[in-house]
Amino acid sequence: MTAQLIDGNALSRQLRADVSARVTALKAKGITPGLAVILVGDNPASQVYVRNKVKACEDTGMHSLLERWPASLSEAELLARVAALNSDASIHGILVQLPLPAHINAQKVIEAIAPSKDVDGFHMASAGALMTGMPGFWPCTPYGCMKMLESIGYDLKGKHAVVIGRSNIVGKPMALMLLQQNATVTICHSATQDLKALTLQADVIVAAVGKRNVVTADMVKPGAVVLDVGMNRNEEGKLCGDVDFDGVKAVASWITPVPGGVGPMTITMLMVNTLESAESQLS
Ligand code: NAP
Repeated sequence: MTAQLIDGNALSRQLRADVSARVTALKAKGITPGLAVILVGDNPASQVYVRNKVKACEDTGMHSLLERWPASLSEAELLARVAALNSDASIHGILVQLPLPAHINAQKVIEAIAPSKDVDGFHMASAGALMTGMPGFWPCTPYGCMKMLESIGYDLKGKHAVVIGRSNIVGKPMALMLLQQNATVTICHSATQDLKALTLQADVIVAAVGKRNVVTADMVKPGAVVLDVGMNRNEEGKLCGDVDFDGVKAVASWITPVPGGVGPMTITMLMVNTLESAESQLS
């Protein structure tokens, strides 16, 4: 078997075209969706992510506000900026790029964002909404994974999904989203004793670890769907995921590549969340 690719770039183009059309319709009603992105310090990876987010706003017709602050910004100053953006009517989504400098309590800053503008879905209110099945913003990366499964018409009901990784931004929300779609979900982490025994039972594997070759072909049941969230560098410095792509694609039925898989979907879902935050003003 050679797996079919779930192309995150192609799906993103499709979804962003829909976002653009909805932005145009909203603008006609006098509302321009706006995203504020706050970057503190000069982490090179963060600068790239932030630039991509701002560009995605421009491409879809949204308003974006990029605030760059030196690493010396105090926690109190950052909280004051978040408070100002919470009450800025032109802003529908607020994103504080992580990681923050060590002297700033990131969780405190996230909790300061108004839940109605928490388009990253990291606020405790958003996490609680996801857990209880109430409306709220879903974290963009696992949300993007769900859209990828939807795009191939995959019915999760009764399937066994194995999520590798339990972070608050990827693994845990991923597991809850899969559960909400009636999958039976296993969550694995660094203390899991026999990862292979579990992944071999999986109809769907989501790898969100941050280590190369965590999933190899011998760990995958023939025909399984494999989503690779990981972002790592190989010896040549090339971007790669957690999954041994070449090996696993011979066993799986569907697989996401890295790059060009989950990565572009994350920013796309940020656009969707920001748009929907603005649209909710109409209701
Ligand atoms: P994280 O907070 O470091 O979490 C990694 C998880 O992997 C932890 O739960 C850890 O277990 C688990 N783990 C570590 N070694 C393991 C092993 N050998 N077997 C099984 N589980 C193991 O990372 P994250 O923020 O969730 O991100 C995960 C990866 O996704 C990273 O490569 C990150 O760059 C990438 N990412 C990509 C996107 C995207 O847009 N494509 C977005 C976000 C993240 P413990 O909890 O026990 O430590």
